[in-house]
This record gives sequence, structure tokens and C-alpha cells, in this order.
Amino acid sequence: MGLREKIKNINQEIFQRIFEVREINLDLENFESFPEFQKQELLFIKDKILGLEAIFNFSRKKRPQPRTETKIENEPDPFCNAHNLTPIDELGRLENESALTAANLSKMADYHSLIIFKKHRFTELTEKDFIEALNLAQEWFEKIKELDPRIFTQILIWNYHYRAAASILHPHFQVLAFKEIPQRLEDWQKRIEDYQEKFRSDYFADYFQVAQELGITKSFPNLKAWLSLTPFKEKTVFFEGNLKNDFWQILEKLIQNGTQSFNLFYLYRTTYLKNFGFFVDRGEINKINSDFGALEIFGLPVVSYDPIELAGLIFS
Ligand SMILES: [Zn+2]
Repeated sequence: MGLREKIKNINQEIFQRIFEVREINLDLENFESFPEFQKQELLFIKDKILGLEAIFNFSRKKRPQPRTETKIENEPDPFCNAHNLTPIDELGRLENESALTAANLSKMADYHSLIIFKKHRFTELTEKDFIEALNLAQEWFEKIKELDPRIFTQILIWNYHYRAAASILHPHFQVLAFKEIPQRLEDWQKRIEDYQEKFRSDYFADYFQVAQELGITKSFPNLKAWLSLTPFKEKTVFFEGNLKNDFWQILEKLIQNGTQSFNLFYLYRTTYLKNFGFFVDRGEINKINSDFGALEIFGLPVVSYDPIELAGLIFS
């Protein structure tokens, strides 16, 4: 059963608190030479609570895409010699077996540093390296908070590969600490509080329950992951909990199933929201066109991934 049929077959009470769905079926009679595009089903899903919306059209993955061979394997980079070639930050240099910290050259927060993996290649990283790098990030967050108690928003991001906006390929997290809360997060915080008050229920718990009925979730002891019904772009995973517990397993499955570049966003702490985040697949590294066009920037994302099918691949 596909996504639209599954949505119709689940309990609508909680689903409709959060979501609104609209379908369009197109039969394009003048498309005889392109039979795979002749019948198209568009599914618009709106998350009324967070104000997010996406269009699903599975036929879009059949479109031809421009590609080129990229040879970037052996580029020199300062992160392979980070002790000598990267500046230290306000805390000096924190380090463990798998990672070390450095100041970011060009800041985008009150405090903004890097957690650089000691290994150069993403493919050599293990779950232990990932956990150690997260441990170092946590240590950095705690020490920055001790240094400056006015900090109350802490965010970890991982842009992997140039396609996902990394400027250096060598794997690294960015850790950001703000004295304020970014406007969008503040808005979400308010909307989630209003939801709690109106329905006497937790937004994330309700979303997870809906996703569970659709079969697009995975639960670990300290981490819940589910596929987004209003993705920011292709293959969007929401998660809540501690990334150290089992997120690596999900990442490995995504990589095995075609993910080559990604953005990971993890809200470590604000005044109210904490320990939740998003993972977004940013597409093949050999594709030369951007995955974000005018509709995505100014309107709403359009995606071709099928959450039901993807859950079968990465959550089974
Ligand atoms: Zn390197």
C-alpha cells in the first residue's frame, strides 16, 4: 500500500490535528512519447502546527539529470594537519581519540567551532568515531555554557560533502552557541507550546504515533526516528533523543541505500526545545544541478521520495 492509501487507513483524529492532505491526479494525454510521465499523482501534505508543507510526486525521480565525474579524492586540506593548520577557539583545543576542536574561520554564532574527525575519509569512520566526536561536541557545549552562562541555544550541524554546502570534504561537525534563539526555532517553540495547551498532548509524541501507524518509524531505547511527512528535501528523517544511541545505524542504512551527501541538524538545547533534529539527503555528488529551485526557496519543497518505501529500506 502506498503513502496516500496508508494515510487514509490510519486513525484520523491525531493525524488531522497536525496534518492536512490534498491530492491531484493528472492524466496527461499529450504525453504519449513519455509514457512513464503520463499519469501523475501529486500529494500535498501540510503540517499545520509547524507551518511546513511539501509536494510528493514520485514521477520526478524518473527525470533525466545532468551529471559529471568529479575527482576530488586527494585534495589537500588543513583538517588532516589540524593541530598546525587550524586556529584554536575560546576553549583552546579539546581532543579525544577520534576528533579534535578548532575555531571556525568565519563565524555564524556567538561561539562557533568545529569538531574535526581525525580520519580523512568519511568511509573510514566507525560508530565509535561518531560517538567520540559527539562526546567532544557535548564537552564543548558544556564548557562554552560555563564560560558564558548567557548562552541558551546550542546547535550541532554536519554538512557532509560539497553538495551539502561543506567547504572542506574532510568530515567535521560544526557546533554553534547563541545568546538568542533563531527566529524560526522560537516560532516553532511557540507553536509546540500552543499545541500542548490546546490538545494536552506532546506534538512530537503525536507525530511519532502517526508515523508509527504509517510504518515509517524506528525506536531505540534513547532515540526515536521517523520519516518526515513534510520533508525539507529528499529523504528527510526527523529524530528525537540522544544521537549517540543508534543514530549511526540509521546513517549506515541511508548510505547503503544511496545517500551520498547530507545535512544533519541537531538542536542540542534551547530554553524549551532540545534533543531533536533533522537529517536531509542532498543527492548524488556527481549531479551538477542544485536540488533547490525557485519553488523550494520561495514556496515549498517538492520531492520524489516515498517514505513507505524508504522506511522498508532503512528501518527494517
Ligand atoms: Zn583530510
